[in-house]
Amino acid sequence: MRPAYLDLLLSPINKLKGVGPKLEYIINKLGINLNVHFLWHFPYKIIEKKYYENINDAPINQLVTLKIEVIKHYPSKFKRQPYRVSCLANETPIDIVYFNARHPVIRSVLPLKSLKMISGKLEFFKNKFQITHPSNIENISDVQLLREKQPVYSLTAGLSMKSFIKLSNQVLNLIPNLKEWIDEKLIKKYNFLSWKESVEKLHNPEIEDTYSEKNLFRRRLAFDELLAHQLAICIIRTIDNKKKSVIFKNNNKLKNNLIKNLEFKLTNSQIKVVNEIQNDLVSNKQMIRLLQGDVGSGKTIVALLSMLTVIESGYQVTLMAPTSILAHQHYDNISKLIKDFPIEIDILTGKDKGKRRLEKLDKIIKGNTQIIIGTHALIQDGVNFKKLGLSVIDEQHRFGVYQRMAFNYKGFRPSILVMSATPIPRTLTLAAYGDMDESKLIEKPIGRKLIKTSLLNLKKEKNLIARIKNKIINANDKFFWVCPLIEESQELDLKAAKDRYDSLNKIFKNKVLLIHGQLGEKEKELIMEKFKNEDFRILVSTTVIEVGIDIKSATTIIIEHAERFGLAQLHQLRGRVGRNDEDSYCILLHKENINDSAKKRLNIMTQTNDGFIIAEEDLKIRGPGEILGKKQSGLPSFNIADLSFDGDLLEEAKLYAENIINTDPQLENNKNLKDLLYIHERDTAIRTLNAG
Ligand code: ADP
Ligand code: MG
Repeated sequence: MRPAYLDLLLSPINKLKGVGPKLEYIINKLGINLNVHFLWHFPYKIIEKKYYENINDAPINQLVTLKIEVIKHYPSKFKRQPYRVSCLANETPIDIVYFNARHPVIRSVLPLKSLKMISGKLEFFKNKFQITHPSNIENISDVQLLREKQPVYSLTAGLSMKSFIKLSNQVLNLIPNLKEWIDEKLIKKYNFLSWKESVEKLHNPEIEDTYSEKNLFRRRLAFDELLAHQLAICIIRTIDNKKKSVIFKNNNKLKNNLIKNLEFKLTNSQIKVVNEIQNDLVSNKQMIRLLQGDVGSGKTIVALLSMLTVIESGYQVTLMAPTSILAHQHYDNISKLIKDFPIEIDILTGKDKGKRRLEKLDKIIKGNTQIIIGTHALIQDGVNFKKLGLSVIDEQHRFGVYQRMAFNYKGFRPSILVMSATPIPRTLTLAAYGDMDESKLIEKPIGRKLIKTSLLNLKKEKNLIARIKNKIINANDKFFWVCPLIEESQELDLKAAKDRYDSLNKIFKNKVLLIHGQLGEKEKELIMEKFKNEDFRILVSTTVIEVGIDIKSATTIIIEHAERFGLAQLHQLRGRVGRNDEDSYCILLHKENINDSAKKRLNIMTQTNDGFIIAEEDLKIRGPGEILGKKQSGLPSFNIADLSFDGDLLEEAKLYAENIINTDPQLENNKNLKDLLYIHERDTAIRTLNAG
């Protein structure tokens, strides 16, 4: 049961004084539904409105607060004329001026003879003081509302700063004194204040620095939020792990056989990762592992070796790819690799309909098909398994899917291997997966060279064309030519690519192909095949080739208007080449004048081929929402913490949470932490505790 002292904080805002249904609706738009949410809605700046007893001491053109007496109203007589209210500030005349204002409103806020505290920008106009459109007018008795340093909150239409601050103050007054939930050592380490003090300081700012990312009050609350989140994950996972998962008993026959017959030797990194996965599979815990490795680092074979372990133990496996092109590529590759094994493999995509689909599904549920490769079609209704042991998810950025599969996928809790070619910064994986294990392929197959990356001004396109000509006539090189997204419009996008195709096709007759997102999957596949197998040399594309295309003979990728791409995307695109042991190149064509942030991005590309470094830089530049795609990422959204700069706190919170749950899984000796879970609305975790 939730302790009663938290009730007020956690009740809906309509219980606050002055909040009716209309205001409630408006405030809800800010994401404020419970009283406690007011606390998380910090001011983003402060404005100083110093109070001056004597107007002659007050600075012109700055925000000031004065005490005035209303003397006379001069309403405007025609539209453009201002409405003037003549006042005295301690004997000195001052006009309060309004344009286009409603007369009755002014009469009611500044009644004759009244004494008011007024704030606004002080002007000196035609030898007279004036304030145009004052920002605040208060009765002398309400002066506490007129703090000299006033916080400014982001608002929404229909909500005034004044009424917001009143409500926020109401909530601040409800704050109970909660017992500290962080241990002393950590408080000292970060110089944190108590939870309550931190909240109060943030809402009653003293200095502008209050809103910098390093601000200690905010950091304290960010840590709390991250701790609640990590605790919740730990609690739920600990309970889950008690439900024993399958131990995949096998003799490694299939696995060793495949390794023996490979045309290449596994890299040390591949061997290490295969072993990490193997250890998970033969233990009794459900594997949930993220495998990260740059494009071309050889993730597929690692996945396949793991799949073989599971199959040999009598279970089925799935491999899910984001597009049907990629699913087919996997299907072809893997079919070849296991052709001498007694294993049934099939592919299931959206294109399988009617009778064919039913036949496939039938074989899957009977357990006749052991490897099922596919797209999202794999997670649709009607797909059922006999004994699913492992799900591999390739090139997966959307964390949501993994969660669905990990906890109850078609009645099974299969082991999960998520493979990502875009290295995901550690902060984000921690936030999304909490205690998911990670493996990294840090080494590329032997013989592969760095992709030489250079910048080229679009003005020097002629030089580039000459270079390509040389390589096409005198060698067998193939080129990708990527045209960028133009203002998110597919049509314009396509036009740019078409224009480029036309101009290149004029120069290199019958050597150029065009591929773009508006083509059907079949057409796309056909074009890819042609490019791979026939004497076409340049593939012009929109960004459709971004994901996973494997054409070994392509040695150069040209990215037009590279300044418009994000780092991760550039890196991903670059990885389309360098897939054999020849020298390979990436040419970043950019417009003449690019801004500093674009310059920085492009320079990072020329300096490193390391996807992990690039990912960390990207997180700093763009923030987590952009990297993973705002809506679909499945990342939890935090009210206070910002993953672009609170990564260190997240690490700390994870360690802290793990320590606690390891020694005190029911939080019996850490009851204060339950308060924390409640105020951050992690009630599910608490229910899990109670149930477990
Ligand atoms: P990615 O990690 O991008 O998914 P793939 O698994 O598609 O990479 O592998 C890229 C290419 O490298 C494939 O053609 C694969 O056969 C090859 N490959 C994988 N491992 C090795 C290795 N150890 N030595 C040589 N080539 C390898
Ligand atoms: Mg791949």
